[in-house]
Amino acid sequence: MKELILEMENYAKEKSVPIIEKDSIAYIMRYIKANNVRNILEIGSAIGYSAILMASSSKEVKVTTIERDETRYMECLKNVKKCGLDKEINVVFQDALDVNLTGVTYDLIFIDAAKGQYKKFFEKFQYFLAPGGVIITDNLKFHGYVGKKETIDSKNLRGIVDKIEGYIDFLKNNEEFDTEFIDIGDGISISRRKNENK
Ligand code: SAH
Ligand code: MG
Repeated sequence: MKELILEMENYAKEKSVPIIEKDSIAYIMRYIKANNVRNILEIGSAIGYSAILMASSSKEVKVTTIERDETRYMECLKNVKKCGLDKEINVVFQDALDVNLTGVTYDLIFIDAAKGQYKKFFEKFQYFLAPGGVIITDNLKFHGYVGKKETIDSKNLRGIVDKIEGYIDFLKNNEEFDTEFIDIGDGISISRRKNENK
């Protein structure tokens, strides 16, 4: 298992797959254990790195993870099998915005896909949060670019940073959710429904 994780880290580096930073996944794994998280929904599997680590944080954990890129989806499936976690991790090959969920709720929803669509993901998946559940979002610093738009030459990149800044404002001004911003890894946020005693 440890070896597989290392292999995945190397693969990600070689192929420039943006897997989560170690501090951030360690934080999420601690959260999972401390809060008895059972059901997790992940938006953006890539090669399965974060899904595998989340699923392995405790025996009871089940992860549904969504990926729209076929190569990454296949790689993810392969890695999940290699880890012997096929019963715990359900990999869905689809665009998350097209996925139809019914009758399920999640204790943790991890948003880690296209940065420009964060708000759409939040707005769609908030209805699938179990009581006391949280929505965690990754890459809110976007490699240090957030808050430093004037230093970016690429118009595309500036557009993404704009969207992330918009998402941060959306979270800060959200009437239904309280959000804590945590300065670890590439920056994560953790959002909870207001008026829940947890
Ligand atoms: N969570 C992974 C990293 C995910 S990288 C980890 O830390 O190990 C982001 C992934 O989201 C990419 O593989 C990309 O193909 C996928 N993605 C982007 N937009 C998506 C969408 N709308 N639906 C599903 N997957 C998406
Ligand atoms: Mg990420």
